[in-house]
Amino acid sequence: MKYELNDKIKSLSPYSVDKQTYKIRLDANESFINLPNQIVEQLKANLDEINFNRYPDPDADELCLAYAQYYGLDRKYIVAGNGSDELISVIFSSFLKKSDSVVVLSPDFSMYKFYAHICECKVLDYPKCNAEIDVEELIEFCRVNNPQMIVFSNPCNPTSLSLETSQVKRVIENFDGLVVLDEAYMDFDDSSLIESAAQYDNLIVLRTCSKMMGLAALRVGFAVANEKIVSALRATKSPYNVNSVSQIMATTVLKNKKYLDGCRKRIIESRDFLYNALKPICADNGVEVMNTKTNFVFIKSENAALLFEYLKTKNILVRCFGKYLRITAGNENENVELVKEIKMFFKGDAVI
Ligand SMILES: *Cc1c(COP(=O)(O)O)cnc(C)c1O
Repeated sequence: MKYELNDKIKSLSPYSVDKQTYKIRLDANESFINLPNQIVEQLKANLDEINFNRYPDPDADELCLAYAQYYGLDRKYIVAGNGSDELISVIFSSFLKKSDSVVVLSPDFSMYKFYAHICECKVLDYPKCNAEIDVEELIEFCRVNNPQMIVFSNPCNPTSLSLETSQVKRVIENFDGLVVLDEAYMDFDDSSLIESAAQYDNLIVLRTCSKMMGLAALRVGFAVANEKIVSALRATKSPYNVNSVSQIMATTVLKNKKYLDGCRKRIIESRDFLYNALKPICADNGVEVMNTKTNFVFIKSENAALLFEYLKTKNILVRCFGKYLRITAGNENENVELVKEIKMFFKGDAVI
């Protein structure tokens, strides 16, 4: 065998997801709300409009317009992607050059470091202190290291914490490189910068339809930025990145404003229920629960790995990161069952 994979990809393995079936799946921050029949019927009717033999609209015009209207933005500041994940990939491969450096916070969304690796960029790791970001310290870290880019999620996956608008603005205003602000969970919080994204010279805000909107299956995400950055994104993305089916379906859902507003409300209620139910159990058992501005709860426990395994035996899947568990807010029954099992675990009745 002559052909060898290069060093960069030789030891990589595919993003792994647990494909077993679980009665309760609270591991991927998806929405627990599936589309109602009434909207599914609209989607079916719209399928007839698709010319399956033709390539999709490269600009995803209707989709971007519907997105702009839902959030009250100007369409010219928006680019659609095949999930915001694709946009992260495009940003890393196009806005950075080989050997450039990028500040990544930890913990944060794992894909940032992955794409930095693929693009042969240097990662400057900024460790958070007890899951919190000290903005002044971060600004100083960027000043000293002078990276080309900084990327972070706000609210953060996995910590569930969020920075206030004024703090994020301080980071942007005190940094000369590009700031990539991943607002995947901002529908559950109220400190978004999308409305002012285009006023900044050096900001890209990323959003997704995969979380609050419950459209993870479609793979649709957006970047919001000034016109210069938007043109560069259009020029560097793959031309037909968002397929016609996803374009038309996400557009249809985005036009159902009342439905989406209802989803946001229900998910926030579910998250608050979960947080409030877990808080006293955790307090009694020396477990820390972070405040949450997302659709999940993040807890720290010496027994995280044991609890994770225990929940699996009860047919419940969550995410485990060392001493931390990340639990997506589910529907009422799912939350109640999860809380019951966590209680059992800490009562010591749990048999593993
Ligand atoms: C889920 C998630 C995304 C990915 O969103 P897609 O649009 O589904 O690719 C991006 N960033 C963060 C922080 C996420 O948690």
